[in-house]
Amino acid sequence: MLQNDIRPAVYYCNPNITPYEEYSLRKEECSRFARSLGLDVIDADYDHAAWLCAVKGLENEPERGGRCLECFKYRLLDSARYALRNGYGLLTTTLASSRWKSLEQINRAGAWAVETALREAGRPDAPLQWWERNWRKGGLQERRSALIKEYQFYNQTWCGCEFSRRG
Ligand code: SF4
Repeated sequence: MLQNDIRPAVYYCNPNITPYEEYSLRKEECSRFARSLGLDVIDADYDHAAWLCAVKGLENEPERGGRCLECFKYRLLDSARYALRNGYGLLTTTLASSRWKSLEQINRAGAWAVETALREAGRPDAPLQWWERNWRKGGLQERRSALIKEYQFYNQTWCGCEFSRRG
């Protein structure tokens, strides 16, 4: 984005991650990198209990199933609300760069989140859009792997919630 004159702000919204120590570790990794680029990092509330309510009844779903769709919707709606309140025009997510995630689910959740935030705010014509882009193509997957290596990022072995840690 920076190489294309797009200056993003990072909205860190990951109340799905547990335990809290793991959440903090990942947040610090993200913040460290964003700070090195001079980007703003906005910290969303860490309310794991509220997130658990959002996925209630879907605990036994496999990854890429119904629980993950609700998880994306929950976090992207929070992000869309923030973006709308603060005058951003485009919303996307690093989730879309992971080959472990369903891009179809992410795009569905993102479009829904923006539409819902606009409707809730009574501002259907506000200039906020979901940025539907495949962040894995055009050399971006390779770029991602290179950055992980270059910056020696902590690389987690499970998605984040307690249900992704079983088995
Ligand atoms: S596996 Fe990952 S995406 Fe799915 S519900 Fe858990 S934290 Fe969310």
